[in-house]
Parts: sequence; C-alpha cells; structure tokens
Amino acid sequence: MTKLPTPKPWISAIHAYVPGKSKGKDGRPLTKLSANENPLGTSAAALAARDAAAAPALYPDPDSNELRGALGQLHGIPAARIVMGTGSDEILHIAAQAYAGPGDEIIYVRYGFSVYDIAARRCGATPIVAPDADYGTDVDALLALVNERTRVVFVANPNNPTGSFLPKGEIARLHAALPSDVLLVLDQAYGEYVDPANDDGALALAESAGNVLVTRTFSKIYGLAGERLGWGTGADHIIDALNRIRGPFNLSNTAQAMGLAAVADQAFVVTSREHNAATRARFVERLEALGNHGVRPLPSQANFVLILFEGALDAETVYNGLMDIGYITRWLPNQGLPHGLRITIGSQTQMDEIADEIIRLAR
Ligand code: PMP
Repeated sequence: MTKLPTPKPWISAIHAYVPGKSKGKDGRPLTKLSANENPLGTSAAALAARDAAAAPALYPDPDSNELRGALGQLHGIPAARIVMGTGSDEILHIAAQAYAGPGDEIIYVRYGFSVYDIAARRCGATPIVAPDADYGTDVDALLALVNERTRVVFVANPNNPTGSFLPKGEIARLHAALPSDVLLVLDQAYGEYVDPANDDGALALAESAGNVLVTRTFSKIYGLAGERLGWGTGADHIIDALNRIRGPFNLSNTAQAMGLAAVADQAFVVTSREHNAATRARFVERLEALGNHGVRPLPSQANFVLILFEGALDAETVYNGLMDIGYITRWLPNQGLPHGLRITIGSQTQMDEIADEIIRLAR
C-alpha cells in the first residue's frame, strides 16, 4: 500500500503560530495581558446583536454585504473594494498566496508579526527578513532587499510586538520606491489606536495605488477577537483576487451581526482609544524612571508596550514575577527578544500594579 507522502518541504519548515498564554504554570487562571485584547471588552451594542443574530442552521451571507457596506461608509471606501476575512490573519495568508509562490520572495522586518513568516512559507515563497532600526521599521534596509524575485512586502503599522510606527512620509517613501509589481501590505491591526492626527495615509494609498492592500481587524479596538473578523481594502483587481480564494462563508452569522453593531458604535472605539492612550502614557512614564536600571519601554502607538530589560533585571524574572502577582504577559525569547516583555495595556489599576511590581524588582 502506498503511504501518504510527507508534506511539502516548505510546509514542514513552518514553525506553527504560538499564541499568548492565558494560564499560569500551575494552570491557575491569570489576568491576561498577553494577546493585545481590549480591556474594556466589547461594545454593549455588539453584545446585544449577538443574541438577535442566532440562526445556526442557516449559512451566513457569503459576501458579508451589510458589514462591508457599513465599513465602506465609515471609511469612505466603496464596499466593492473591501474583502472580509476570518480575522485579518486570513487576509494576510491569501494576499501572500495570491501574489507569491515557490521561487518568489516576501520581505518583512525583523521583530515583525510572526504570521508573515508562516504566510510566506505556506505558499512556498521564501521569507526575507530586513534588519530593524532600533526595533523599528527601517525603510531603506527593507528597500535594499527588493529584487526581481520580490512579490510582497509586509509592514505592520503600528508594528507588533515592538509598537513602532512609521509616519505618513515614510510610508509614502516606501511605496514610491517599491516597484509597482510588488504588493505592499500595510497591516493596520492596531491602526485605530493611533491618534487620528497621526494618520499614516495607508487607507488613502490603498485607494489611489494599484499595489497596496491595507488590512484591519475587529480583534483589537472593537473587542471582537473571539468572533474572528478582519478586512482588507485595495484596488479592485486585488480585492477580486482575494475574493477568489477566501473561505466562501468566512464570517459566521454572529460575527457579521456583531461586526455591524460594533461599526455603528464608534463611541466605544473613541473611548477605547482614549483609555488606551492615557493608561499607556502613565505606564510608560513610570517605567521611564527606571532608565538607569536598564529598563527601556519602547515608544508605542498601539495597545501594548514592549519593555526591554538591558540591565541587571532580566525579562524572564519580570515575566515570572508578574505571574506571581496574577498577570500573564508575553515574554518573547522565541522571537529573538529574550530581553523583551510585551504587555497589553489593561485597566489603570492593573497597569499601576504591574508598574509597582517592575519598580520593586528593579530596585
Ligand atoms: N496583524 C498584527 C500585526 C497582529 O498583531 C494581529 C493579531 N495578533 C493580526 C494581524 C491578526 O489578527 P486577527 O487575525 O485577529 O485579525
């Protein structure tokens, strides 16, 4: 009898995505500040829509028409130029698959989101990692790696796990210097957390350029990570390609209904953004006072802060110490950051407690 052959070599080379933990070493439930979820939860209007949507025997609208219409109206984009995904992860994967394959290259920056590597390998393309500039995206270093095999460039703005942010001018410079046959994916999973005065121009670029795809998610500021809703926008031909290969019924009835209600409740989004900005600023300020102890919170435009431990106190000790007081955070030795701890911005009380503990450990 013939045996099932081993998977394709590029599939076997993938390191599966490792999500943030939600339990401590002994299985104790901990307050989870490891996955960049919204500490304010979900909009009450979206929660109310969940029960009204229950129709589990029926397939959902395959094209999420109402939801795309609402998103289009909110952002001033024709609904036809929006594609929905089961989380923005699905959009990242199908973008790589649509435009790259074996022999092609996909570039992203070191300390970038770990799904880019999986998305590149999954379609047989070669992932190319550009050096960072002090944990941020270095546009010139990235451009230096572009060649005739380059098909896709992934840039998260703000970036996860560093929180770094490229201003509008740098995004425009990157796009202008890229060949027009390379797809630039601007991943804005944390885009709504950026002060609107600092808009990076990504959505406008997706509207005007023929080679830009912007991805966004409901998992972060909308507080709907568990329902798996993401979306992308770009030129008609990009959206057409992605629609051919996305899951046919990729958003459940419940997800579509909750998403629709969440889009209508922009007050929740504004409250979440303001809560995050104020809480993050205070948290970072307290940690900056530990500079002479080698504790360095990186500037963040997102709903988390990456703290580097470059002195006597190491990240693992802090990770374990925070677990001892009831918090699970994200220590990143497997992403080349054994000295880095990424902490999601929680409530004011939680962040004060965490800062108190880090200060206690550092002194
Ligand atoms: N992009 C970035 C930069 C992220 O951090 C995440 C979530 N961790 C995603 C995309 C994917 O999120 P989702 O699939 O929940 O939309």
